[in-house]
Amino acid sequence: MAELSTDVQYIKGIGPQRAKALQKVGVTTLEDLVSYFPRSYEDRREVCTIAQLQPGQSACVRAMVAAPPTLSRIRKGLELVKFRAVDETGALDITYFNQAYRKNEFHEGQTYVFFGQAEGNLLRRQMNNPAAEPEGKGEVTGRIVPVYPLTAGVSQTLLRRAVTQGLSACSELLPDLLPDELRLAQGLCRVEYAYQNIHFPADEQALTIARRRLVFEELFLLSLALGRLRSRRTGDRVPPCQDVDLTPFLEALPFSLTAAQRRCVDEALGDMRSGRPMNRLCQGDVGSGKTMVAAACAYFMVKNGRQAALMAPTEILAEQHFQGLAPLLEPLDLRCALLTGSVKGKRRRELLEALSAGDIDLVIGTHALISQDVAYRDLGLVITDEQHRFGVQQRSALSKKGQGTHILVMSATPIPRTLALILYGDLDISVIDQLPPGRQKIDTFAVGSSYHPRLYDFLRRQIQEGRQAYIVCPLVEEGEEGPDERKAVREYAEKLQREVFPDLRVSFLHGRMKPKEKEAVMAAFAARESDILVSTTVIEVGVDVPNATVMVVENAERFGLSQLHQLRGRVGRGRHKSYCILVSDPKTEETRQRLRVMTRTNDGFQIAEEDLRLRGPGDFLGQRQHGLPALHLADLSCDARLLEEARAAAGNLLEQDPDLAAHPAIRQRVQALLEKNAGAMN
Ligand code: ADP
Ligand code: MG
Repeated sequence: MAELSTDVQYIKGIGPQRAKALQKVGVTTLEDLVSYFPRSYEDRREVCTIAQLQPGQSACVRAMVAAPPTLSRIRKGLELVKFRAVDETGALDITYFNQAYRKNEFHEGQTYVFFGQAEGNLLRRQMNNPAAEPEGKGEVTGRIVPVYPLTAGVSQTLLRRAVTQGLSACSELLPDLLPDELRLAQGLCRVEYAYQNIHFPADEQALTIARRRLVFEELFLLSLALGRLRSRRTGDRVPPCQDVDLTPFLEALPFSLTAAQRRCVDEALGDMRSGRPMNRLCQGDVGSGKTMVAAACAYFMVKNGRQAALMAPTEILAEQHFQGLAPLLEPLDLRCALLTGSVKGKRRRELLEALSAGDIDLVIGTHALISQDVAYRDLGLVITDEQHRFGVQQRSALSKKGQGTHILVMSATPIPRTLALILYGDLDISVIDQLPPGRQKIDTFAVGSSYHPRLYDFLRRQIQEGRQAYIVCPLVEEGEEGPDERKAVREYAEKLQREVFPDLRVSFLHGRMKPKEKEAVMAAFAARESDILVSTTVIEVGVDVPNATVMVVENAERFGLSQLHQLRGRVGRGRHKSYCILVSDPKTEETRQRLRVMTRTNDGFQIAEEDLRLRGPGDFLGQRQHGLPALHLADLSCDARLLEEARAAAGNLLEQDPDLAAHPAIRQRVQALLEKNAGAMN
């Protein structure tokens, strides 16, 4: 008697050899096998006549082999098996390439069902390499046929047969993880039906029903896992913070906080007073003023007598936060310090001592903050800025530097709600859904490279009016910059300086410059000592120079929409009308469409939704390490409804049975999910 954990080689009809092939697609147990879902389906229910075949379309046709197949070797490495098949409406020429064995598979006078793409024309119909089965003995004709993801050495036929065997071996074994009540309330089918029909659907409707059940189950388990993580965290007790009068802080600001900023601050303060550790994501579009939310929280924590740390993804950004916040907070008796990789030697030793002695209240820095030798006296609050740039591990590494540490995560990448629920499902979310007053729409244009002369004229006019400009160039993949880009940036800057703007000041910046150099370049740009800054995407995150009003992005097609939105967010930060110019010669309609989205809207969330739809979640996030667990069936860009339902159901179940003690099968699956994603999910 088989079990779900049985090695597939012991399943009737599979055996060691096929088991070995199946291993190549990651299938070793019976459970793996039946959970190896098709990537698409072919509809072979309709069998048509030869006359009905439409060139260019795939179809099933029933026909009799009219003459014995012939084998010919055209040249070395090319063998053709050809024969003609007929029915009462016409003839069909069939050819197999490099499958010599086919010669003996088909017999004159016998009828087969062929499935493939019809080619040729209405007078002479052809099919190349069709799938074929003798009439009446078909395994796959007359039904919707699964198409599995394959690797070399594994064929569709092998998988289809193995799955068929697997399904019959485990018909009684599949546990229905979903409690009956829930299953019925959600209108979901039984587990056997779901597995049977996800592989071999009786019809479209059966497939929809099966898929819905399995997607729900997947999202339900994921939601449970996230819920457990969250309660594991919030189960901790920490000394509640005392209320603090924020008036001195608010009065020191050159502006009043927007209502949305106030709300986020209040939500975070509420968490910190609650006696449970805060785990909050503060999401706000570029320019929505997240830094001040962070500052308010840091002020609150320090006035509670504990330390706060603000971690930024780049030195430039850490530096800028420090330059902006220290003058604001030091007069309010917060002792601030900057700790980055370029703080070295004696200065660093002194700083570390001061941190561990509690002589520094707010430390701002890069991931230098989580170096081994950095210790805090009492780290009460950890803020990570631009969270998507960090691995989840770094966030938790920093919080582990303290006891009972609160976490505030800030992200400017507007993440579509479905993704946020999964990526940050263990966090509470605040959204700054309002920009500070007086912000103007950034006019965005997509232009071809032939537009360069006019573009340069435009830059010159802006600079003559006292403004500054960024040019991002040219090729940048997510993550690392390559040597070519650094070279390209320098050469482009030099060329501009020499040939186009000899009278203006052009500077450049890339990720591999020494921190001191980068700092100097940024500081000079911020101090208006440079008119045009040519850069790689190192300026993508956070940089704030309100006098800059033009963002030019060369080769804009190489960027994701959300990244373009981030880049665009570098301008439009001051009083002046700002512009974003995307230079690209798009080769495909899709690229053109993507760029058009940018010219149509300034709304980061809308752009993110579009980006997710166009690129899928994997690409959207750039890298695996961002914490998205692999989903087998669910498609986050269209299963949003189901995700909400699954989350609600998971919430209910956890409320009744927090440890899942009464649901051991679910508990086991959730545990496995947490273990499998240990790196990403905590
Ligand atoms: P984010 O980090 O969300 O992209 P920042 O915190 O860098 O945005 O803020 C963008 C700009 O808006 C900064 O120059 C900041 O000083 C300014 N700012 C922030 N909050 C307000 C506000 N309530 N009113 C006016 N300006 C603000
Ligand atoms: Mg910011």
